[in-house]
Amino acid sequence: MTQAVSLKQVSRHFGTVRAIDDVDLEVAPGEFFAMLGPSGSGKTTCLRLIAGFEQPSSGHISIFGEAVEGVPPYRRNVNTVFQDYALFPHMNVRDNVAFSLMLRKVERAERYRAAEAALEMVRLSGYGDRRPGQLSGGQRQRVALARAIVNKPRVLLLDEPLGALDLKLREQMQEELKALQKQLGITFIFVTHDQGEALSMADRVAVFNTGRIMQVGTPEDIYRRPKTRFVADFVGSSNVLPPGFVEALTGTRRWASLRPEAVTVTRAADAMAHLRGTIVARSYMGSTTRLGIDLNGQRLTAVVAASDELPQEGDGVGLTFASEALHFMESEA
Ligand code: ATP
Repeated sequence: MTQAVSLKQVSRHFGTVRAIDDVDLEVAPGEFFAMLGPSGSGKTTCLRLIAGFEQPSSGHISIFGEAVEGVPPYRRNVNTVFQDYALFPHMNVRDNVAFSLMLRKVERAERYRAAEAALEMVRLSGYGDRRPGQLSGGQRQRVALARAIVNKPRVLLLDEPLGALDLKLREQMQEELKALQKQLGITFIFVTHDQGEALSMADRVAVFNTGRIMQVGTPEDIYRRPKTRFVADFVGSSNVLPPGFVEALTGTRRWASLRPEAVTVTRAADAMAHLRGTIVARSYMGSTTRLGIDLNGQRLTAVVAASDELPQEGDGVGLTFASEALHFMESEA
């Protein structure tokens, strides 16, 4: 199958900084693909390489089977939605959306028809005459989206497109983006440092660190079967347990991860408990409470459902978890 986007041994160095370091990546047609990682891990550089705003120092990139070396951004079948939206403030919404069609000398009636169709897709029919300054943040973000889909690219690149929105609006836009992607059927590649966003929206996620891809997989793979300590820790703040501790518990000397929500906290006297410890921290999070537990020097976090009977700081507790919840990792990196 021809991949929508393919990177083979791609590196991008800036002086001594290896922003992208020997990356192999394949994104399938119609996929909603997230690039996740901490600040400075190379996600944006990777996106810019695909868009054509950066050239690789080495390696090969192809889009729908065509090598794109030396092909400028506007000749690639790809559009980008930037974090700051980059709308033209002096143009109304309709002209902003139709801008790329104007550059391609599409006649006025046709480009306005296409702009109106794109605005309808993002639920902004009737806003064509407004200026960007007369819109809310969420509406501006939708105009940026409409502008990026108006010429029907085969791949849409999104660089933290929801970063500027408040939490509630961000959650709403996450659903809308997902619905829009389904409706359009085009490939979305999405950069974010927000693990919740990546897990909830993407078909597959690539986790970046220091210019390299640490793991690629479905949200469930990444969350439940992290290959490395970095992935376990970054994607959902897991308990990362050292080999000595795991050996005492299971007989196997390996690094392992244990999700906080997989831990059940019971009374200290519970005969069935695997482990005993002391509550050292407790933070209320609404529907759940996060408990910090000291196990003779090893710190463990448990997230438990809100209840009136939760233990207090200083209380002794017993801990249990299903044996399959303990996940052995391939590497200690
Ligand atoms: P963020 O989430 O903060 O946007 P990121 O994962 O997108 O981070 P990049 O912007 O790709 O990271 O940057 C990766 C590394 O490359 C960083 O160390 C950055 O400082 C460096 N870098 C990026 N662009 C340039 C440039 N034009 N010149 C020099 N260094 C650069």
